[in-house]
Order: sequence, then structure tokens, then C-alpha cells
Amino acid sequence: MRVLFGSCRLELVQGDITLQNVDAIVNAANSSLAGGGGVDGAIHQAAGLSLMEETSLQYPDGCPTGSAVATSGGELPARYVFHAVGPVWKGGLKGESDLLASALHRCLELAVEHSCRSIAFPAISTGVYGYPKDLAANVSLNVAKDFLLEHGRPELVRFVLFDGGSYGAFCRVLETLIGS
Ligand code: ADP
Repeated sequence: MRVLFGSCRLELVQGDITLQNVDAIVNAANSSLAGGGGVDGAIHQAAGLSLMEETSLQYPDGCPTGSAVATSGGELPARYVFHAVGPVWKGGLKGESDLLASALHRCLELAVEHSCRSIAFPAISTGVYGYPKDLAANVSLNVAKDFLLEHGRPELVRFVLFDGGSYGAFCRVLETLIGS
């Protein structure tokens, strides 16, 4: 699914984020940036060992929840990896939506700061961190929409959903945002 916000494109695809031919891909990292399973494990495996070396050298103190830091893309097709730390879902009353929104917002700022024309996101926090997919889709897509309408860049924001359930949830939410 693909929609335009101003002159910018927002796309939803089902697939593997490590294969995306974009300027930057976003990792769903933990706050120690120490590596993990899920999309983080897939990104580090595809990028090669240099990615973890670079990450621990540049960010020995990790990254706070709700923010993101940039490294190179190692052996990935993407030039950059933005390591975003989303919240663990604790029922919805612990600031989860603000933290998820600020992690995404920081990645979009990093894309502009690094002159990236295209960026791909996974469904941050919806795996091990347990954030309900429909609620995460609502927060994530609203942040992307508002940023694109306000800043007019990056030219392409793509959400890469690994499974059909996530893809469906993001499509349903995006349909409600068109024209709203
Ligand atoms: P978190 O700890 O933030 O919940 P996870 O890595 O556990 O992060 O999951 C985040 C999302 O990334 C989940 O929806 C998961 O299915 C998805 N995912 C896992 N591997 C990939 C991949 N290679 N490409 C895109 N998304 C992926």
C-alpha cells in the first residue's frame, strides 16, 4: 500500500528490512544496544561484525528509550542504521505511546540530518516488547504522516512488516489516515 503526504511517499510492504534498498533502515534495539533477537539479530547478522564494533565504540552508554542513534550500515544495502529504542508495553498507561512516537520522530530527524531521501522502519516494539500491533501502527503512522506534512522530507518512508498480521494492522490504520 502506498500513499502521498504532500510530495512524500509513505509505503507499507511485507518483507525483510535487511534487504531494503533505502538510505537508512531502522533497528528496533534495546537501550544497551547490546544486540538481541528479532529484527535486531537479523540486522546485525546481515550487516556483519563491524556494526556491533561501531555501535559499542560510538555509544558505550547505549541509548535511552524513546530515542535513536545512527551508525553506518556495515554490509547492508542501506548506508545507515538508526538504532531506535522503543518502549516495553506495560498496559498503555506508562507513557508508551509518547516513547514510541519520540523514537520514530528521532529517526526521521536523523534521516534529515544525514540527508537520507529514503528510510525504512520495522514495527518497533511489537515483537518481544509486546506493544499491540494496531496501537503501534496508529502511533507510528501518525508520527510519519505529521513529519512528512511538516518537513516535506524524506521523500520515502517505508514500513516493512515482517508478517501478514502486522501488514494488515498497518494497512487498516493507514486507510483511516488518508484524508483525515
Ligand atoms: P521489539 O523488541 O522492539 O519488540 P522485535 O525485534 O522483537 O523488537 O520485533 C519488532 C518487529 O520486527 C516485530 O513485528 C517482528 O516480527 C519484526 N521483525 C523481525 N525480523 C524482521 C525483519 N528481518 N524485517 C522486518 N521486521 C522484522
